[in-house]
Amino acid sequence: MSVYNFCAGPAMLPPEVMKKAQKEFIDWQNLGVSVMEISHRSEPFLELAHKSEESLRRLMNISNDYAILFMHGGGRGQFSAVPLNLHQEGKQAVYCQTGTWSFSALDEANKFTQTQKFNIRNDQNSVASVIPVDQWQLPEEASYIHYCTNETVDGIELFDVPKHASAPIVADMSSNILSREIDVNKFDLIYAGAQKNIGPSGLAIVIVKKDLLSRPGLAKPGIFDYALESKQQSMFNTPPTFAWYLAAEVFAWLEANGGVAAMEAHNRDKAALLYDFIDNNDFYQNNIDTSCRSLMNVPFLLKDESLNKAFLTQSQNAGLLALEGHRSVGGMRASIYNAMPKAGVEALVDFMFKFSKEHK
Ligand code: PMP
Repeated sequence: MSVYNFCAGPAMLPPEVMKKAQKEFIDWQNLGVSVMEISHRSEPFLELAHKSEESLRRLMNISNDYAILFMHGGGRGQFSAVPLNLHQEGKQAVYCQTGTWSFSALDEANKFTQTQKFNIRNDQNSVASVIPVDQWQLPEEASYIHYCTNETVDGIELFDVPKHASAPIVADMSSNILSREIDVNKFDLIYAGAQKNIGPSGLAIVIVKKDLLSRPGLAKPGIFDYALESKQQSMFNTPPTFAWYLAAEVFAWLEANGGVAAMEAHNRDKAALLYDFIDNNDFYQNNIDTSCRSLMNVPFLLKDESLNKAFLTQSQNAGLLALEGHRSVGGMRASIYNAMPKAGVEALVDFMFKFSKEHK
């Protein structure tokens, strides 16, 4: 039986990458030792670091105006690092609110800097939606504008990028980085916890415009200091070397499989299959406006919620893992990141169809 893992994160990684990592586990590059047993300052690791950065630059078309950092602390680490680095005396940081993760980012920033909560959700008749970006009336002055491009829990994705005359645009892309083409030049800072489309948890990728590195911000731990980490090539302290190695392998896998454009086509195809099925079967529902439905995380409800438990037990028995919705919202959620093959979504839709027939 094929097993498909729909976990929201840590999420499935490409099987090819996992098999290669297994093969190389105790003997990397014929060194006779594992990549996690060598110095981060050794020649082979420095080469890995360099190559992975170049690979990410090619994949996302990132110019030399941006530094790329491989940091500790995952997504939430960046919830703290962003205000610590970008704080400006007398200005407020604007936090656009679309769901669970943008709220958590605001909550953390409140410990360090003055913030302004900026609500852009526009839910009507129990359908969640987001005000179109060109209608946002952002304040004229701000230290930065923060938003989340994909709300992993709520299943809400923002496809347009806000603009601001003076304040940097900061995006949490933890759950949709590398899933579709974006113009990096529209952002000043992008960050992402690794455990969805990049690699193991704990690692965070930061793509930051170099001119932001001169902002003094606030006093901060060295490991959260963008300027210091950039100067030290993300090696101020020992980086998470094994996670970095796996990220490098995932980048190489992406490049070998047509890059982000090919991934986007694959992701749009998978998401369309699942949303179309849900919309055309009155046993299930998704309550997100079609303009902002996530390509990565598809929450859905059973119209008869008393069947939730049976759905989860039977889907697990059918090899479809981790379909339970986030504890804060309930229902179901299928996370279909880059590594999820179309066959996984087809197996899910098949199961959902059979389940609906059996329980009609
Ligand atoms: N932002 C988003 C959009 C997320 O989905 C998550 C984790 N699911 C986080 C931030 C937090 O990441 P971490 O658990 O690595 O701190």
